[in-house]
Amino acid sequence: VFGFRDFGATEARWDKAFLAVPDPALAREHLKRLTAAPHWASSPEDYATALYVADRFKAAGLETTIVPYRVQLNRPVKILVEAFAADGARLMTGPQAEHVDGTDGGDPYQNDKRILPAFSGSSPSGDVTGTVVYANYGTLADFKRLQEMHVSVRDKIVLVRYGANFRGVKVYLAQQRGAKGVLIYSDPADDGFARGDAYPKGPFRPESGVQRGSVQFLPIFPGDPSTPGYASVPELPDAERVAVGKGQVTQPSIPVNPLSWKDAEPILEAMGGASAPANWQGGLPFNYHVGASGRKAVKVHMRLVQDIALRTIWDVIGKIPGVGGAEKDDLVVAGNHRDAWVFGAVDPSSGTAAMLEAVHGLGTLLQAGWRPKRTLVVASWDAEEEGLIGSVEWVEQHPELMKRTVAYLNTDVGVSGPSFSASAVPSLKEFVSDVTKEVESPAGGSVHEQWRLDQERAHPKEPVSEPKIDALGSGSDYTPFLQHAGVAATDIGSNGPYGVYHSAFDNFNWFVKNADPNFLYEQQQARVFGLEMLHMADADVLPMDYGAYGAEVVGYLSEVRAKAEEKGLKLDFTKTQQAAMRFEAAGVAARVRQDAGNVDAVRMNRALKETEVALLLPNGLPGRGWYKHSVYSPGEYTGYQAVVIPGVNEAVTLGDRARAQSQLQGLADALGRASAVLESVGR
Ligand code: GLU
Ligand code: CA
Ligand code: ZN
Ligand code: ZN
Repeated sequence: VFGFRDFGATEARWDKAFLAVPDPALAREHLKRLTAAPHWASSPEDYATALYVADRFKAAGLETTIVPYRVQLNRPVKILVEAFAADGARLMTGPQAEHVDGTDGGDPYQNDKRILPAFSGSSPSGDVTGTVVYANYGTLADFKRLQEMHVSVRDKIVLVRYGANFRGVKVYLAQQRGAKGVLIYSDPADDGFARGDAYPKGPFRPESGVQRGSVQFLPIFPGDPSTPGYASVPELPDAERVAVGKGQVTQPSIPVNPLSWKDAEPILEAMGGASAPANWQGGLPFNYHVGASGRKAVKVHMRLVQDIALRTIWDVIGKIPGVGGAEKDDLVVAGNHRDAWVFGAVDPSSGTAAMLEAVHGLGTLLQAGWRPKRTLVVASWDAEEEGLIGSVEWVEQHPELMKRTVAYLNTDVGVSGPSFSASAVPSLKEFVSDVTKEVESPAGGSVHEQWRLDQERAHPKEPVSEPKIDALGSGSDYTPFLQHAGVAATDIGSNGPYGVYHSAFDNFNWFVKNADPNFLYEQQQARVFGLEMLHMADADVLPMDYGAYGAEVVGYLSEVRAKAEEKGLKLDFTKTQQAAMRFEAAGVAARVRQDAGNVDAVRMNRALKETEVALLLPNGLPGRGWYKHSVYSPGEYTGYQAVVIPGVNEAVTLGDRARAQSQLQGLADALGRASAVLESVGR
């Protein structure tokens, strides 16, 4: 049977036919078309990209629909940030437009009139003036450090740099501590000249480059802020939405805006007060201070006028119906977002261009008579940048489809350079690894081999036999599938130095100069992504290894146990540890049966799919019930980075014994349910 590596002659033939199709020249053409104009979600230019993608889907033979949602988005009308020294002298007026000069070829896209001023998604309007405090990356530890230094952020404007956590978490923490506004800037130490040559000479962020981005409180719930847990379909009456300013718990109440380092520099340079700690120092040529108060204070004035409105966005959904008997209505969903902060060459169009070449490959197979066993859905999500909105609303709209979805395959930044990377649930790590062994790398050998070598070079002392695949946290469209609906997921991409993230300089010119001049990594990405779809749609027995999943959970549990002991928190782990060991044993036993061949595939597949669902907590995580997964979630204080067995880990971090014990019970119950599902197919 075709499960993990066991391809028959037929599968090998389809793989070969597929791999021949993705075409660098066509990927280039897709990228050029997708990045021709700024295409912020809900704009006419965004709709034009939806039509382009829909046309390519249809040309390949996919049943294609454009699915609209009506969602709340803020659009900047007027953005003013100005700063004054203690003596009242003006330090800066901004934000200044993104601009690089003509040396090194300049930038051909920067003067486009449709570029919106740099702004933060989910920021309210506001007009505030206050003393500025520098809070490093704005992590929980950074705010604690400020407190130890007796620096309060109450009624202040907090200046933080990008990096270390999701930007919405910086705002969440600042707001909880009483700040009246937040400015987030890109320090050259993190993605600018201190790392290497800035654009247009090199790939790093130039002085005027700004990172836009959503500051919604993603770890509470993602998607449209006015429809928590249900879909923002166009016909939904306004009365059934949570109104702006009336309890929208994921929206900051204080104004927030991003800045370039060029705009932040005069503020930082003028700030007095205590020296910032050594590891808070950035790449600008002076000593950073946390900010003086009283008569020596540097003052910032922010005036933001946002047009907050319900706007239409468009997912493009393409479908290839399955023909596999009892499993033909089971779904494999693959997706990538399409909206961009500006031109979005890397983020996300490099993913879309590759996805379109993968679809091109599937179209060629369709013409040759191939039909998938399961129904394959390929999705081009909208408004991911504002908070994963297009994917969240679709998942929330289709609970019945989620019951039949066996896996979700994501890509976002498809190509910013040559280093392959992947994240996945543990059950799909071997699957991802196997697929990369089948695809050639432009650097020679297989993608798997180059990926392995990359990781070995990064840690020269540790030989790598199997490249490490990360845990799924958040920040892209796999989140609703895995963490809300319990669908096993993967996320892949190919990376390199990329300092122009979410700026106007993430455009076609940057891409061909820095990421992939010959579109060979685009071709690679199309092949890896397409093979994922092909194998997952056609597998006789789903390539999911719950033995590996169980082993990771056992490991997570011993880590959190050590952490609890270190904190002197007395907890009883017995039942949960037994449940984790039972889950691992059930997974190992299932895997043996999967590999043995004489298995009832339909029953086995049903169980493999339902195991992930069984890991959901009926009431979700404390205080953020939208997140239901007991093993993976974005950390409340990290956002992007996963916190594993989050209920337990976050309670232990808080030192809350009662909560930790009840979370241990919830986890034991989830693991028990998952074990029972796996055991139901026999030992
Ligand atoms: N990829 C987006 C970002 O990192 C996701 C935004 C969000 O989830 O709110 O900005
Ligand atoms: Ca919703
Ligand atoms: Zn993206
Ligand atoms: Zn993005």
